[in-house]
Amino acid sequence: MPPAADLSSLEAEVVRRNPAETEFHQAVREVLESLAPVVHKHPEYADAKLIETICEPERQIIFRVPWVDDSGEVQVNRGFRVEFNSALGPYKGGIRFHPSVNLGIVKFLGFEQIFKNSLTGLPIGGGKGGADFDPKGRSNGEVMRFCQSFMTELYRHLGEYTDVPAGDVGVGSRELGFMFGQYKRITNRYESGVITGKGLVWGGAQVRTEATGYGTAYFVNEMLAATGTALEGLDVVVSGSGNVAIYAMEKIRQLGGNVVACSDSSGYVVDHKGIDVDLLKQIKEVERGRISDYLRERPEATFVSDGSVWDVPCEVALPCATQNELDESAAKKLVANGVKAVAEGANMPCTREAVRTFRENGVAFGPGKAANAGGVATSALEMQQNASRDSWTFEHTEERLRQIMRDIHETCHETAEEYGRPGDYVLGANIAGFTRVAEAMAAFGVV
Ligand code: NDP
Repeated sequence: MPPAADLSSLEAEVVRRNPAETEFHQAVREVLESLAPVVHKHPEYADAKLIETICEPERQIIFRVPWVDDSGEVQVNRGFRVEFNSALGPYKGGIRFHPSVNLGIVKFLGFEQIFKNSLTGLPIGGGKGGADFDPKGRSNGEVMRFCQSFMTELYRHLGEYTDVPAGDVGVGSRELGFMFGQYKRITNRYESGVITGKGLVWGGAQVRTEATGYGTAYFVNEMLAATGTALEGLDVVVSGSGNVAIYAMEKIRQLGGNVVACSDSSGYVVDHKGIDVDLLKQIKEVERGRISDYLRERPEATFVSDGSVWDVPCEVALPCATQNELDESAAKKLVANGVKAVAEGANMPCTREAVRTFRENGVAFGPGKAANAGGVATSALEMQQNASRDSWTFEHTEERLRQIMRDIHETCHETAEEYGRPGDYVLGANIAGFTRVAEAMAAFGVV
């Protein structure tokens, strides 16, 4: 049977065994669609059932998270940790707190993480976790009690050689601080390397906060350069205004791009003079406010509550908010408005149809597993510093990040060329990410 047919029956089997996990199905399909040429070249991977094995998490943990809110009422949430693949190193991947979190979402994120982490070239496996807890509108005390309860179960599964979580949507340094504090208390060990994204005074690394967004900006800069285009002077639209979005905007501006719009879940702002990133940081990181607050200091900007940020004309689009936020009609609009490059700061923000639209119209497209790998790469650098009790400067760490993003770009670019699809970063990222994991798995035998 030709490999492509094998892969589609494998995809059908994944759907059958994991019913209703639509985001997980989508992530698996996207990877399997790229793997036919690699299976053709390496039939030994198929013989060893490596692709079937990689689609099955090594371990999935689901647990109750009870806690008491400020009014004395008991609340019960559900926590998850999916330890997907440890062929290259300890499970590594963030924790997401958002009401939409379910097993399918955590599995899609964990699956993506395997290939992303592999692409960094660093010794980290793939995992992801989270809870259906909504930190929005909760007091500090409530967030602390939730995080402590979450860690009271999770701690037994973690360790610097086992599983090392970090932040994601809804989990920043405040939440990680509460979780690390609880881990330390329960285990009586100051094990810095067990969590990344830590505060600078308690074992964190320079540039980790900025890393995912900076990395996405570096990646799109490399993509443009590969087509002979300079970022300088181009209009850029970024969705979201959280951790990834803010630092993508900051680095885009430093590289000469002009960020004209960004969003949150309540709408978007357009500021043709260029989004004021410091103002945005104040609103989002300090005040935890809404994007419409931006007009308070910049009355010449506009706020739009209905419609899509992708209606704003631009040459570069960076979706940095959430999964499936950019669909086919948004992609067509971007193409009609002359977009040249799209890089995913978020995980799987573009639907399959949107990606196809970009491909058919010659738009350079950087998938999240390559374009947003700067965050986890810098987490791995944080682990290196923790292991050697060292701490690097901002400049040194940023230079390492920049080099890693260049290398990831080159790896994807060269792999796509090697497999006869120049410029196809999706294929390049999937094949290069998969191959490294597959080689390690093959070396270990059936485990
Ligand atoms: P944050 O929680 O800091 O920010 C998320 C942002 O997206 C918020 O501004 C949020 O707005 C906005 N948002 C959410 N849903 C929508 C929507 N439907 N439409 C418009 N805006 C929306 O998360 P991060 O920045 O950390 O993560 C963003 C994405 O990047 C996620 O996909 C995450 O998995 C991915 N990622 C993050 C990494 C990291 O290091 N942080 C690493 C790699 C990937 P609101 O506040 O209104 O909800």
